[in-house]
Amino acid sequence: MSDLQEFNKRLREFLDASPTPFHAVEEMRLRLQEAGFSALDERGEWQLEQGKGYYLIRNGSSIVAFRCGKDPVHERGWRMVGAHTDSPNLKVKPTPELHRHGYFQLGVEVYGGALLNPWFDRDLGLAGRVNYENAQGQLRSALINLNRPVGVIPSLAIHLDRDANNNHSVNPQRDLPVVILQSEESSDFRALLADALGAHGYKDVSAVLDFELSFYDCQPAAMVGWNEDFIASARLDNLLSCYIGLESLLTADTSEHMVLVCNDHEEVGSQSAVGAQGPMLESVLRRIAGDEITWQRAIANSMMISADNAHGIHPNFSDKHDGNHGPLLNAGPVIKNNVNQRYATNSETSSLFRRLCVSSDVAVQSFVVRSDMACGSTIGPLTASAIGVKTLDIGVPTFAMHSIRELAGSKDAYNLRKVLTKYYQLDSVVDAV
Ligand SMILES: [Zn+2]
Repeated sequence: MSDLQEFNKRLREFLDASPTPFHAVEEMRLRLQEAGFSALDERGEWQLEQGKGYYLIRNGSSIVAFRCGKDPVHERGWRMVGAHTDSPNLKVKPTPELHRHGYFQLGVEVYGGALLNPWFDRDLGLAGRVNYENAQGQLRSALINLNRPVGVIPSLAIHLDRDANNNHSVNPQRDLPVVILQSEESSDFRALLADALGAHGYKDVSAVLDFELSFYDCQPAAMVGWNEDFIASARLDNLLSCYIGLESLLTADTSEHMVLVCNDHEEVGSQSAVGAQGPMLESVLRRIAGDEITWQRAIANSMMISADNAHGIHPNFSDKHDGNHGPLLNAGPVIKNNVNQRYATNSETSSLFRRLCVSSDVAVQSFVVRSDMACGSTIGPLTASAIGVKTLDIGVPTFAMHSIRELAGSKDAYNLRKVLTKYYQLDSVVDAV
């Protein structure tokens, strides 16, 4: 197997094992632990050592991993990469039970800007966090992953909706309740969950109290296309970047200070205790720095690369892109620009990135949205404005962003890993341009 094939195999395994941000963080934790990184407890004292790697997790869904460099951080700064762990999906409502015509359905809330049509007629698994009380009366939490088709949202047949191919909109309240079983008796979802926890090895559950559970597509990630030019999977936005960031952090051979931050809640605006608009990254960096002046000097010597997917130009809809800014799949990472600061890229940070791409033998592309269309955003501008660090927004071009199954080029993640590894190893992110 070639290096590229090995990389894509590991990437697919990560995507399949990470149906929710909780699982993605757990998968990252396992890989960090295996690579010798140590867990930090924010309630305890920290004894950080040169050359050692550490990580800390909040809410089980956001993670900061870092390696301490050899020289003082105020002289060298941090080379940082950021991404987000969450993706649009359907989440089970707190009291989800619906009993209609002998079918037991679960009501769902739409998380983030999901493309809803692709959710119909899929084999849906269910995963997330369940909080319960155990036999001793203690509160406990558990991760579960029902990785089998436990639910489905059947389409309405075209014979009953003759207009479906011309004019089909989705009403999330009416159309999305998920069918999970058929029974004449009423079922209690929490009781079903208690059974599921038992099957996951949690034998001391006395009552399920609450949960954060997401439906997801059971179909695993796959190489797609006649020559396997593409990789198809759920949650490429943005687990692809989480994985690339993690691989880069673990592969980089350097004595510089490196940071990887992967935040939850980007798809809903990042304004939360563990989102990119919250204090997580800043409080970790301040604690590493120790005092205010060290922190300020370190930030002035630092840089953040925010990695989140970009829109590749779609051959059937090429008028949706500016003619000079239509990124192609498998043609390199995309620098994302927006003068209105929806992306944090500036010409200094993008120049540095271009040179990194050249020295990594990787092509690079530019994206700016059509001047008559609104621009998306990501964690880059939020982090830049929160901690005042110079920032670059980049990403792998994809199709079908926010669909239940997205598509990327099979070479782009591998190539971006090469570039970000080089970035982590840069001597300086201040004088490089
Ligand atoms: Zn994203």
